[in-house]
This record gives sequence, structure tokens and C-alpha cells, in this order.
Amino acid sequence: MFLIFPLGIGIGVLVREYGNLSNLDKFYFAFPGELLMRMLKLIILPLIISSIIAGVAVLDSSVSGKIGLRAVIYYLATTILAVILGIVLVVSMKPGVSQRAEEIDRTGSTPDITTVDAMLDLIRNMFPENLVQACFQQYKSKREELKLKKVPEKNSTTLAGGLVTNVMATEALKNTTKEYKIVGTYSGGINVLGLIVFCLVFGIVIGEMGEKGRVLVDFFNALNDATMNIVQIIMWCMPLGIMFLIAGKIIEVEDWEIFRKLGLYMATVLCGLAIHSIIVLPLIYLIIVRKNPFQFAMGMAQALLTALMISSSSATLPVTFRCAEDKNHIDKRITRFVLPVGATINMDGTALYEAVAAVFIAQLNDLDMDIGKIATISVTATAASIGAAGVPQAGLVTMVIVLSAVGLPAEDVTLIIAVDWLLDRFRTMVNVLGDAFGAGIVEKLSKKELEQMGGSSEVNIVNPF
Ligand code: ASP
Repeated sequence: MFLIFPLGIGIGVLVREYGNLSNLDKFYFAFPGELLMRMLKLIILPLIISSIIAGVAVLDSSVSGKIGLRAVIYYLATTILAVILGIVLVVSMKPGVSQRAEEIDRTGSTPDITTVDAMLDLIRNMFPENLVQACFQQYKSKREELKLKKVPEKNSTTLAGGLVTNVMATEALKNTTKEYKIVGTYSGGINVLGLIVFCLVFGIVIGEMGEKGRVLVDFFNALNDATMNIVQIIMWCMPLGIMFLIAGKIIEVEDWEIFRKLGLYMATVLCGLAIHSIIVLPLIYLIIVRKNPFQFAMGMAQALLTALMISSSSATLPVTFRCAEDKNHIDKRITRFVLPVGATINMDGTALYEAVAAVFIAQLNDLDMDIGKIATISVTATAASIGAAGVPQAGLVTMVIVLSAVGLPAEDVTLIIAVDWLLDRFRTMVNVLGDAFGAGIVEKLSKKELEQMGGSSEVNIVNPF
């Protein structure tokens, strides 16, 4: 697995130099990678549904409430720490101040999104009107629906209201950048937040029903076992698919020059991500769990590498489960509950990146950052990271909320789009690491309740590693 990354880059560079591929050939070249992503995405839905329902149903409701509360406190605390770290770094490193704003060509108007709209959309997302629809369609905000009715098709730049939803922000990006295809591919996914809320409630209810609910609990347990077995099959195909994904990306990049211009910005984000994952998270783990955090992180190595290579914490979820349960031996009653929820709402890397990117863009725009604006960025970056789906470059999309909150043009996300595919890999890795540490920490804090319950929920699968 460790060789896949250099191998993919090597093949990509060779084909780029000597391959003389047409655009169509490039498309064919990326095909095995595309198949892998399709398989991973395919399994997300049954995995989330079965793991949450089966996980919560075996817990006593007072226990699941306590575990849930601990998990949410951990998610929020670490996300806020990540945002603060990002702000401190970007304000002191000033990556945008040395750049000349005139260098960058910007067009278009600012969509009129407010923080309140964004927050309301986030909450609406939690309560889908239609469960079946939530499985294959992102929720569209009320503002968008209203505007879609009013605004003629050709003026679609102004459609970008309520940007918590990916579909809408994708619309905005489509009209502001030639590179929209990267983001556009991932629109219209699953409303994971809505499903999670439903599955949590459903799991608690059938768990509380006792004998009457037994058949449902058994069903979701069996579904969870079957899903994890399919995960195992997908994991055998992973190395080949990932190699082609990386090679395909290298072949695709057209403008390397932009990397030089955005170098300092990238350094700021990477520095923040490194501090958060090497110092902040391990320290919290060490203080609470009192075990070696680096050994724990090593146990998650395969999940972290997968996240680095496919830039999606949701698609990495199957591997995260396997590493947390098989390598780090975290209780399955905790992982089934904490990991899928974490993969959706706990994104430390994304929050840090959004804060840095927003201040960077403000610096490029010569906007003075008073304490009020910094506070607004902090709050919206936290909300935007919660709203972002665990798919590639979702953070770039929800960035628009943060920009709009401090009056910056939404189109300015185009300034950072060229390097986003690379930063996305690292922030996804931090997102996955944060979820894993979270599971370890919540398990430690919930030891007493777990012991009182006795036993452990078993999943019978052969270890593929
Ligand atoms: N790709 C990230 C993830 O899946 C989300 C993002 O920051 O774009 O966790």
C-alpha cells in the first residue's frame, strides 16, 4: 500500500511526458480509479444505515445519550481548536498580503447568502422531508427553490443561495471557473446528515422496543455484517484503483505555475494540519486515554493513506472501521456509532482549511480583519465544516458560506481552486484521524457504561490486512 503513491505519481509523470494522450485517452486511463470510487460510494449508504442503527440499538438509551454527548463535545472542541490554530497561523504568516490582488482576474457578482440562511439550511438538512429522496439527493435550500422559480436559467450565477448544500454551490462554481468539473462530479450525493439523524432515532427506538424490536435489530446487525464483508472485497481492489486515480490526476494537471503563487498559502494550511494532527489531537488523546497516540495513529495508517489518496472521508469509512476495530481494538459498540457520525460532521482538517482560506482571500482583497470578522470566520468555518459532505472538495464548496459571511465574493474560491485537489487530500487525512482519535477517546470515557452492559457486539469478518 505504501508503494502505491510513488508508483501512481511515477506512472502519471511518465505517461504525461511520453504518453502523448488525447483528452479521451486520459479519460480511459482514469477508468480503473473511477471504478474503485464507484464501489466505495456504493457501499456508503448501507454502511451508514446498518452501522448506526445496529450500533445504537444495542445500547441502552441512557448509555447512547451519554456516548453521543461525549462524541459531540469532542467533535466541537477539536473543530474549534483547529479553526483557532488556522486563524493564528494565517494571521501571522500572512500568505495573502505579499500577493498582488490584481494578478488574479475575477468576474461575477456576490450571491446574497447570509450566515442565518446557511445555518437554517444546515438544520433543514438534518430533517429530510422524504427518506428515500435523502438517499440519493442532496437537500436544496428554501432560498434556492425560491430563486430557481424566480430567476431565469441563463442568470444562474445568482442561484447560489444557502450554500450549505453542495448542489447549489456547485452551480455557483460552474459559473465562475473552468475547473468546475472537479466539483460538479460530486454534486447530488446522499443527504448523509439527514440519514444519520433518522438512523440514530430509529436505532434508539428499536433498541428500546425490547423483544418486539428484536427482529429489526437482528436484521440490521446481519446487514452490517454483510456490508463489512463487501467492504473486504472492495479493499482487495483498492491498490490498483488508487494507483490509477493518482496517475490520472497527475496527467490532468495543466498549470503548475499556480503552485508557486499559492505556495505560502499551501504551506500555511499544511503547517496547521501538521500541528493539529501531530501535536493537538495526540495530546488530547494522551491526556484522556493515557496511551501512546502515535502507536494508535500507526494502527490507522491504512485508513489515513486511503484518505490521502481518495480525498473522501465517507469513502474511507470502511477502511477506518477496519483499522479502528481490528488494529486499535476499539469496541464496536463505539465505532459503529462514533465513526459514521464523525465522518460526516467532524472535520477538523476542513474547518482549519476554511478558516485559513477565508483569511487568505481577505488578505488578497486588502480587507482589514477586525476581531468581529475573525469571530464570524471562526463560527462559519465550524458550521461549514459540519455541513460539508465527506466527499472530495466538499470543503471548497462550503467555503462560499464563510466568504459570504464576511462580505467577500463567493467567486473568490476560484483563487484557491488550482491547489485544492492537493490540500483536500491532507485535510481529509486529518478529518479521518480526528474521527479515529474521537472513537478512542469516547471509548475510554465510556468504559464504565460499556462494562455495565457486558460483552461486545461482534462482527465476524476475516482480517484482510
Ligand atoms: N474531502 C474532505 C473529506 O472527505 C472534505 C473536504 O474538506 O473537502 O473529508
